[in-house]
Amino acid sequence: MRHLRTMNDLSNKEIMALIEEAMEFQQGKHWAPETPTFVANLFYEASTRTKCSFEVAERRLGLQVLPFEVSTSSVNKGETLYDTAKTLQSLGVSALVIRHPEEEYFNQLHNIQAAIINGGDGCGNHPTQSLLDMMTIYQEFKRFEGLKITIVGDIRHSRVARSNSDVLHRLGAEVKFVAPEEWKDDSYPTDSYITMDEAINTSDVVMLLRIQHERHHSGKAGLDDFHKQYGMTIKREEEMKPNSIIMHPAPINRGVEIASELVECDRSRIFKQMENGLYMRMAVLKNALTKNEGGKEHDNIIKEWEMA
Ligand code: ASP
Repeated sequence: MRHLRTMNDLSNKEIMALIEEAMEFQQGKHWAPETPTFVANLFYEASTRTKCSFEVAERRLGLQVLPFEVSTSSVNKGETLYDTAKTLQSLGVSALVIRHPEEEYFNQLHNIQAAIINGGDGCGNHPTQSLLDMMTIYQEFKRFEGLKITIVGDIRHSRVARSNSDVLHRLGAEVKFVAPEEWKDDSYPTDSYITMDEAINTSDVVMLLRIQHERHHSGKAGLDDFHKQYGMTIKREEEMKPNSIIMHPAPINRGVEIASELVECDRSRIFKQMENGLYMRMAVLKNALTKNEGGKEHDNIIKEWEMA
């Protein structure tokens, strides 16, 4: 792996190798580059988790993090993303973590040699979120094959739904969706949509999504009654299968996607996802910076996964 733009940049084996490496970092593994290595985080959209966890990951790997704020940069003078990336590369920056509102912004960056790590492109993709979600699911169930995972809410505008549904399917899980009519994504087969009650009774993982108000053109439409119809209410949580878990990429709208009391309940893996995000981003950065092909030094997890 060099660039990580979408999950399609990774084979299934590379995904499993990253999960294993992230778990090694979680257990205290140490790695640092041999020579000073600069990275920059370019966030053209708001972020708490992704930006902070990349920064902590970079510092823990001993990388030199270039302070870069879009709001005080020449982006304000109209500099393009390509020119900004090329400038940082000219200064010797080896990896650029980029979040941008434009879908597939990375297509403009073909000539950039620095590793591009996508921190979210509009409604498109969010590969490191997807990887940390895969890590969380794998730690819980030790397999993907045969798991039933339901993604609930604003499917159409969610880059998390897109990245996760494709990869979960590829790894052997059964993926279903629950969404109000106006937030369904027609690119998924109609029979992949189920009711919230069916999701609650049958899913191993119920993955809630934030309502993406900033990507809606019609203000806060669709919110009325959302919690009652599609939210994780206290009653629904009680009806979930034993051992099934609740996930949410956060930020959370408490009382909308999930009852506030359930955010830290026994089934919730929401803060576990955030913790895993740090270790997964360490693994992603290491692989991007070392051009590690993946899969070679992680035979154990690959064998375990192939046998599951
Ligand atoms: N943090 C995730 C993202 O950046 C989820 C969200 O914002 O709803 O896409």
